[in-house]
Amino acid sequence: MSVKQIIDECERLFNDLDFSYVKEWKKRTGKKAVGFMPVYVPREVIHAAGMLPVGIMGGGADLEIIKGDAYFQSYICHIPRSTIELGVSGKLNVLDGMLFPAICDVIRNLSGMWQMLFKDKYVKYLDLPQNFDKTIGGEFYKFEMRTLAEDLAHLGGEPVTADHLNRSIQLYNDNRRAIADLYKLRAEQPHLVMTSEAYLLLRAGIVMDVEEHTQLVRRYLHDVTKEKRHKMDNIRVVVSGAFCEQPPLALIKGLEQSGCYIVEDDWVLGARYIEGDVQLAADPYESLAQAYLFHAVANASKYEDQHEKGAFLVDQVRRLKAEGVIFCAPSFCDPALLERPMLADALTREKIPYTSFNYSENTGQFSVFKEQTGTFADSIKLWGHS
Ligand code: SF4
Repeated sequence: MSVKQIIDECERLFNDLDFSYVKEWKKRTGKKAVGFMPVYVPREVIHAAGMLPVGIMGGGADLEIIKGDAYFQSYICHIPRSTIELGVSGKLNVLDGMLFPAICDVIRNLSGMWQMLFKDKYVKYLDLPQNFDKTIGGEFYKFEMRTLAEDLAHLGGEPVTADHLNRSIQLYNDNRRAIADLYKLRAEQPHLVMTSEAYLLLRAGIVMDVEEHTQLVRRYLHDVTKEKRHKMDNIRVVVSGAFCEQPPLALIKGLEQSGCYIVEDDWVLGARYIEGDVQLAADPYESLAQAYLFHAVANASKYEDQHEKGAFLVDQVRRLKAEGVIFCAPSFCDPALLERPMLADALTREKIPYTSFNYSENTGQFSVFKEQTGTFADSIKLWGHS
């Protein structure tokens, strides 16, 4: 399989709103599949129950919204409309359940709507802790995960034993390492690993079986280093704010074409939410809770002290020798847009240039964004700041 074939396959999965991969997986294994919304769920628990975790990242750029708009007011983001559209049009019938992790009121409301609309499906609002004391938030989160595991067993999955869960953690550790290697190679040689390719690989990973996906990423890493790709006179940037509703693929390509090497980003963040390995242990729920509490990346859906806001982003910029930040968030996304001024203040204090724009998953016009980020790149090349 060439790099092109790997990426073509990932793009096929990305565009497939009929979720043929999931249908085929269920037919082949006779098991069930459970969907989840951004940003993060402990996929290890779903996997340990013998089920396929399936990331639902909205409907993307091409889905026509016929009924979804009728469920929401005007001034909110786009992802709940397209997710409802997918649901009421039957495209998510292949899923036996849906998880809605705590991130914002929109997702919370969507979980309630899902319960009313799809009464025959398992629905859980996964309440992630915002208290990072392991005796409080940790215990709460362990209880949430155990409840999820019991629910999934009741739904027809396998009982989640410690052995099963440790095995799943091991497989997701392998996957996290492969993705970390992908991001490392992109940061070191961004002309080699195109961001649009890295993005499609990540998107494939939220649908595919975890072992199959790890192999795919490893094969890409092996093959791409043999490709001859030219270096461009691009600046190095970090993209921040796209952790939930995803930018259109054409927008991601447009950022690269405007003179920016993206060396860090936060899209499909659930796949990279935990840094490093989750420990294998007698109580694997404890390990997952510790990983969530102490080794999760900073993001707008997770509580941070005011004085810490922006430190993670500044560190990314410094560590990866980035020359600027592009704040790129969904329109009307409260978590991202409320956090942005605090992140921008931290960058200003450190004299790190940034530019900002908002998108929607179905944004169709990219020339304005390309001109903006192209001008940002030019100003950094000319003067070292915007
Ligand atoms: S895009 Fe933002 S506001 Fe909309 S569901 Fe996601 S986190 Fe919530």
